[in-house]
Amino acid sequence: MRELLARTAHELLADVSSGEIDHNELQEAQYAFAREIDGELNNFTAWDEVVESQGWDLDLSPDRMQTFSHMPFAAKDLFATKGLSTTSGSNILKGYEPSFDASIVAHLRQEKNHLMGKTNMDEFAMGSSGENSAYGPSRNPWDLARVAGGSSSGSASAVAACQSFMALGTDTGGSIRIPASFCGVVGYRPTYGLLSRYGMVAYSSSCDQAGTFTRCTLDAALAMNTMSHPDPLDSTCRVTERIDYYADARKPIHWNKLRVGVISQFMDPERVDNAVLANCQRSIDILREAGAEIIELDFSIAQYCIPAYYVITAAECSSNLARYDGVRFGDEPQGDDLLERYLDVRSRGFGEEVKRRILLGTYVLSSGYFDAYYNRARAMRGEIARTMSEMFRKVDVIVCPTSPNVAFGIGEKADDPVAMYMSDLFTVFVNLAGLCGVSMPNGFADSDGSSLPTSIQFVCPGFHDSLLLRICSQFEELSAWRFTPPAWITEKLGA
Ligand code: GLN
Repeated sequence: MRELLARTAHELLADVSSGEIDHNELQEAQYAFAREIDGELNNFTAWDEVVESQGWDLDLSPDRMQTFSHMPFAAKDLFATKGLSTTSGSNILKGYEPSFDASIVAHLRQEKNHLMGKTNMDEFAMGSSGENSAYGPSRNPWDLARVAGGSSSGSASAVAACQSFMALGTDTGGSIRIPASFCGVVGYRPTYGLLSRYGMVAYSSSCDQAGTFTRCTLDAALAMNTMSHPDPLDSTCRVTERIDYYADARKPIHWNKLRVGVISQFMDPERVDNAVLANCQRSIDILREAGAEIIELDFSIAQYCIPAYYVITAAECSSNLARYDGVRFGDEPQGDDLLERYLDVRSRGFGEEVKRRILLGTYVLSSGYFDAYYNRARAMRGEIARTMSEMFRKVDVIVCPTSPNVAFGIGEKADDPVAMYMSDLFTVFVNLAGLCGVSMPNGFADSDGSSLPTSIQFVCPGFHDSLLLRICSQFEELSAWRFTPPAWITEKLGA
């Protein structure tokens, strides 16, 4: 069974439905392997205690839409999971076991997928490396001394290390795409509104969006088929009709009709590591050779994306995190009056980065500074969205590196918050403008003796997710990319 754990879900589902593979045995093998190697990776913060096979009957009717089903999966620690610890990587929520499932987790469970456990993350999803976690950092399976990327660090590393075929993450400014790029897996951030946010611990509500880590685009499409439903519990959920993402992603692309935009500011050798840039250039050449028209785009306001993003998200987080007051969650507060008790529980419960953002957010929302910072950032967000819709009149898809660099060493950027924020240079515009994006592995780069994955990002307009997934899955074929795990994992699997 173990050797199957390096494969993709959609391939295995074909064998499961033909009866060649017993899905209960597969689920058990996956769970056992994930637990066995997690000491080296620190990817899980909690495990489902049901070790035995779920003993589920197979339920795959051939005529319905194909979905992600009968498979094990993992979820970032900020999705509410009934009876299973949900802490958002924070001390302030330690001990919290929700009484309900987040909507998308509920959909996955209904389709007989086993939620093996919760994955490590930057506290309240604030970070780009996974180091701001109350559980310590997840490790990158390609080099255990390096970060897995953040904030969905454990989910990315788990899919790359064959601990799970699919893992849920969230992406507020790049938290799916960046760790996917550092770990060499496919990271998909759907358009805001295509997946319910009900049951997700909020960071910045206007940017937060759930999505997936998988080993190929078709698996991401399968997961969308399971998870994307209308939801009366989330008023921002915009799903009105059922779309078959899996069927759409398998349709061929006429490359000679595709216009691919390349943002010149994001291909700047001053900003991007040589090897990352070279691999991105090679991917663009592949698209050109297939017949796509490559169009250069000027994003002259690119430098304002990071400042606008960090003002807006800090403002929203300072308001969202006000609810952690020690009354319902966290340790018993100490102090004689209410204020002292708030101070006590929030000072002890939150980590440094979260405190920095709450302070920043409170500042930019305070009267006197509201117009100077918050309103200007919002106006810039509007400008970025307008610029993007103009670009999408000229092109069908935009490509750029997902991250300016490969995975860096644990501790390397920990003392420099601005350097860390700059990791999100190529990802935040997607969230600010309501677009959808996929990070696709596109090769490896040597860095101080390690060979580390690099990625290219594909971005489409909001609600063009079917087209985006189709382009990415066909790009996998074009570039002959196939997931292979790091050598030490392959060895352990006996694959
Ligand atoms: N690194 C970004 C931040 O810290 C993105 C985080 C995210 O997408 N959740 O805000």
